[in-house]
Amino acid sequence: MQLSLNGQVALVTGGSSGIGAAVAEALAKAGAAVAINYHSSAEPAEELAKRIQDAGGRAIAVGGDVGDEAAVQALFDRTLEAFGRLDILVANSGLQKDAPVADLSLEDWNTVINTNLTGQFLCARAAIRQFRQQGRDENISRALGKIIHMSSVHEVIPWAGHVNYAASKGGVNLLMRSLAQEVAAEGIRVNGIAPGAIATAINEEVTGDEAKARELLKLIPYKRVGHVDDVGNVAVFLASDLADYIVGTTLFVDGGMCLYPGFEDNG
Ligand code: NAD
Repeated sequence: MQLSLNGQVALVTGGSSGIGAAVAEALAKAGAAVAINYHSSAEPAEELAKRIQDAGGRAIAVGGDVGDEAAVQALFDRTLEAFGRLDILVANSGLQKDAPVADLSLEDWNTVINTNLTGQFLCARAAIRQFRQQGRDENISRALGKIIHMSSVHEVIPWAGHVNYAASKGGVNLLMRSLAQEVAAEGIRVNGIAPGAIATAINEEVTGDEAKARELLKLIPYKRVGHVDDVGNVAVFLASDLADYIVGTTLFVDGGMCLYPGFEDNG
């Protein structure tokens, strides 16, 4: 079986930067038409869409806040208007607002939960409604539809000073698994990807600083910081029919970060 997404349409939220941009580009290379969602700044998403088009692919840039119900509807409407169907959702948008818990404002708690968790619910719900409405076409994919939730190793690793972020990603894990259980019988595959440390804007304060990056490597048994393509490749696989029997699972893309590296030297 070939790893091909020919004829399929994907929507990638937060697709204008970092992991989302790499996922969008990888899906396009595999043959999917891609709607690239951005939040505030259109230009990077439009540039990426243009790059994909120049390489012979199909792509559009679409604005919208994933935490806003009406904006999510508009985002899906625009995707369907451009491409006529939806086969793959990658719910990737996310952010951090870090603070020690005593200093963490309710506003920053709510912002992170609203984008990282509620946003994933709103997008998954819209995708499931669309998959049901359009029905299955076995010439396009064995599944009725595929949803990939971008989680984090912090869906299992507690993270002091980041309780809003860790709570949101822990929530994403059970959102993903409960949805998978609810819709699997219809042929909808819901899964998650949990990246470890991937060099992007979200962590450039650490990955861009030599001393901090050295400390970070102590947490990574494979001894390298991840590249966005490490995640893009896995998203293509999970979205493809090669992964047709993978349902309700998180794939950790973390260089072994979840292996308790503190015990490397016998604890
Ligand atoms: P990033 O900051 O480059 O990407 C986050 C994207 O989300 C941006 O494009 C941003 O515009 C978008 N976004 C933020 N709020 C939004 C909103 N309300 N509506 C729509 N889009 C919104 O960082 P990244 O590292 O590429 O992060 C992508 C995802 O990967 C996030 O969910 C993040 O939690 C997750 N993740 C990243 C790492 C890492 O090491 N980089 C590790 C684990 C998980």
